[in-house]
Amino acid sequence: MPQAQPWKVSLHGGHSGEFCEHAVSTLREVVEAAVAAGFSVFGVSEHAPRSEPRFLYGTELEKGYTLERLHAEFGAYTAEIERLSAEFDDRLTVLRGFEAEIVPAATYREEMLAIRPRFEYMVGSVHYVDEVQIDGSPEEFETALAAAGGLEPLAVRYYEHVAEMAEALRPEVVGHLDLIRRRAPLDADLATPAITRAAERALEAVKAADAILDLNTAGWRKGLGGPYPAPWLVEKAEAMGIGFCFGDDSHGPADVGAGVEDARQYLLEHNVSRIRRLNRIDCAIVKEWVPLA
Ligand SMILES: [Zn+2]
Ligand SMILES: [Zn+2]
Repeated sequence: MPQAQPWKVSLHGGHSGEFCEHAVSTLREVVEAAVAAGFSVFGVSEHAPRSEPRFLYGTELEKGYTLERLHAEFGAYTAEIERLSAEFDDRLTVLRGFEAEIVPAATYREEMLAIRPRFEYMVGSVHYVDEVQIDGSPEEFETALAAAGGLEPLAVRYYEHVAEMAEALRPEVVGHLDLIRRRAPLDADLATPAITRAAERALEAVKAADAILDLNTAGWRKGLGGPYPAPWLVEKAEAMGIGFCFGDDSHGPADVGAGVEDARQYLLEHNVSRIRRLNRIDCAIVKEWVPLA
């Protein structure tokens, strides 16, 4: 087993087939993989359940998932992550988190803040723009594009949602900052002046919330040629003093730790020499800077 490095941390991931329709294996197997991968802190951030049937994924509907099942599984997750984080405490700091959704637009704030007290931290993620999923199927992305009137207005709207989410939820971690890349053409210009302005406002909201940015390795696995976020956003965030922490976005044991060494290299190449991680000290969750070298 490799020696646990202080910088070897993931705050976004740990999804398991036990509690997530599009993940595999049990949560115990995922946590065991995190021990084997040499993490010092491993945050588990299962998806919060959606509250209206119109937000069920097509793949969930195919498998007969219902809202009741999502809520029951999330309740079971809450209990199991508490058990596992206590059981593994002598080998690995397992943080109990969840990934917040920003749907429905009118009520997500109340719903997510109601869930928050059961956990040690929250990852705030924008997967929907005006209630249309942007990282789902290509067809859904087409729907989002048509509703927004094109890629540039969709990207602007996406970053507006990130800013609103950061202000409304004040999450400890903001997930995959430029997830809008997920279904956009690889050669699309997602740093036009209008998009850049909206992204800068989102970064200001992240900074005001004192949130950590997720350096998310799933971008490599999804064929985007790099992690989330892109270099220009890394540079802007670094200049603003916003910290990054890794997220392997694992959806099963095989993903656990995937890309984290490359992500460390990526940050160093962009002149980021430290991460900001969450840690548990005397039962309290703290944010602390850790050098990457
Ligand atoms: Zn997921
Ligand atoms: Zn996500």
